[in-house]
Amino acid sequence: MTPFKAPIDDILFSLNKVAGADQLPDWDAETAADIIGHFASFAEGKIAPLDESGDAQGARLVDGRVKMPDGFVATYRALAEGGWQGLSAPEEFGGMEQNCLIAAAVSEIFSGANHAMQMVCNLVPGAISTLLKFGTDAQKQEWIPLMTAGEVLSTMCLTEPGAGSDLSRIRTKAVQDGDQWQISGEKIFISGGDQDMSDDILHLVLARTSDEGVKGLSLFLTGRTMAGDTIKITRIEEKLGIHASPTCQMAFDATPAELVGELGGGLAAMFTVMNHARIDVSLQGVAHASRAYDVAAIYAAERSQGRKSDGSPAVLADHADVRRMLDRQRSLALGARAMTHLTLVELEKGDAPDLVDFLTPVCKVFCTEAGMEAADLGIQVLGGYGYLTEYRVSQTWRDARITAIYEGANGIHALALATRGLRVKGGAGADAFEALVTRLSGHSEVTQLLEHWRLWRAACLTSDAPAELAHDFTKLTCELLFRACWCCIADVSEDAEMSRLRDVVLQAPVAIRKLPNG
Ligand SMILES: Cc1cc2nc3c(=O)[nH]c(=O)nc-3n(C[C@H](O)[C@H](O)[C@H](O)COP(=O)(O)OP(=O)(O)OC[C@H]3O[C@@H](n4cnc5c(N)ncnc54)[C@H](O)[C@@H]3O)c2cc1C
Repeated sequence: MTPFKAPIDDILFSLNKVAGADQLPDWDAETAADIIGHFASFAEGKIAPLDESGDAQGARLVDGRVKMPDGFVATYRALAEGGWQGLSAPEEFGGMEQNCLIAAAVSEIFSGANHAMQMVCNLVPGAISTLLKFGTDAQKQEWIPLMTAGEVLSTMCLTEPGAGSDLSRIRTKAVQDGDQWQISGEKIFISGGDQDMSDDILHLVLARTSDEGVKGLSLFLTGRTMAGDTIKITRIEEKLGIHASPTCQMAFDATPAELVGELGGGLAAMFTVMNHARIDVSLQGVAHASRAYDVAAIYAAERSQGRKSDGSPAVLADHADVRRMLDRQRSLALGARAMTHLTLVELEKGDAPDLVDFLTPVCKVFCTEAGMEAADLGIQVLGGYGYLTEYRVSQTWRDARITAIYEGANGIHALALATRGLRVKGGAGADAFEALVTRLSGHSEVTQLLEHWRLWRAACLTSDAPAELAHDFTKLTCELLFRACWCCIADVSEDAEMSRLRDVVLQAPVAIRKLPNG
């Protein structure tokens, strides 16, 4: 087994050199390195050692309550005592008010160390943002300090048996009862719907307040303590991976709740949590790609097989095909991280919201697929040992798989990008994307691909059936950004290895079908 090692140098290089974090007025590279280094030690020493045992034991439902695997409660308490749950929350609510880039680095390291535990803890920043934006003063005062102190963890309750990608089918109802509300219905697949790590749980629940499709959805909050036995955990799901993350089926029966934001504004309010979560899921993909590379590179440097051309004994990494796989893994990890950090810098700068809206689904799709591909290659590099559990790249492969499904299945993001994403505000997001790609790279390969992308953009806009083009258009958009990021990585790095990897990335064929009528 290869112990988890946080990729601190790669993360700092990406933030400082590639994404240009120093454009932010409050960016202090030294403080960032300090905080990230502190968290990395905690993650390596305390969180990562629970990843394998948590996977084997899993979360369990015992007498209607979820029990987390051994060791999770104590480690969570240490995490909360360290103040990590309030890392980016405002100081006035007890947080550390660090910017989202530091939080992103911490989140990536957390996911690399233990994806299942990270998921249960990391819906909190999105819940805090949602309350800051839509909550009443009383709601903010009541819940945000508890979340920053780690006394409360939060959930996001959207999915129902009949409502997955299509939230207009939500049937859970909220009815008014004086100045209170009551929620009744069934939610499924709710991550951290119950756990025994935090004293209380804040549930953000999307429920129906009228029959008008998505306009009839409103956002509510309720808490495990305030709900009492009006919320029942009816089962937790058996899954392919992230076994330590309890995926709960929940029955709400006249559960007392408070409206968050406006009546009928539920989806808009929930998007604040979801947009945060989408970048976070992108970082889960980065974390898996990076971890899979790490395990594979160490193994390939040590295992002797075959001979070099001069007849001397070779290790796996001496073979061209193994090097090909390692290069691909490394390029996926660094490229995916770069695009996510670039997006976060734009988000934090705040002057290009259309660009951020365009980039968010691109990151979600690219990074999650990068995590899965790199994990798959990791198994191949290790051969039979990759397929076994011993080196745990097979756990990375299983855990990574969910990222392309939750927070909006990748196909749904592709559809949104090729339709609404190209049309909103007259295509302002897509225009800003073109400008970003041009800024990142003047390389002829990228310029040619950008020309090709423009044809696809026009085809999506004029097509009677843009859904037919959505997958390829999104693949092409991802690939274009990935290549542009790699040109930028090589340009800002003094390491010749980065230029070599850029050439590997640029020389790979782009697997997109021919344009219809093209
Ligand atoms: C481990 C885990 C944790 C989760 N955590 C949470 C959570 O905390 N909170 C929560 O609310 N939910 C959660 N979910 C639910 C998750 O968000 C949904 O599974 C996801 O949104 C997809 O919905 P679905 O499973 O019903 O698939 P479906 O909507 O049935 O989709 C199945 C497939 O069909 C495609 N598809 C569906 N509709 C269309 C369309 N119109 N056009 C093109 N393609 C389409 C999708 O892309 C997908 O590939 C979790 C799920 C899992 C497995």
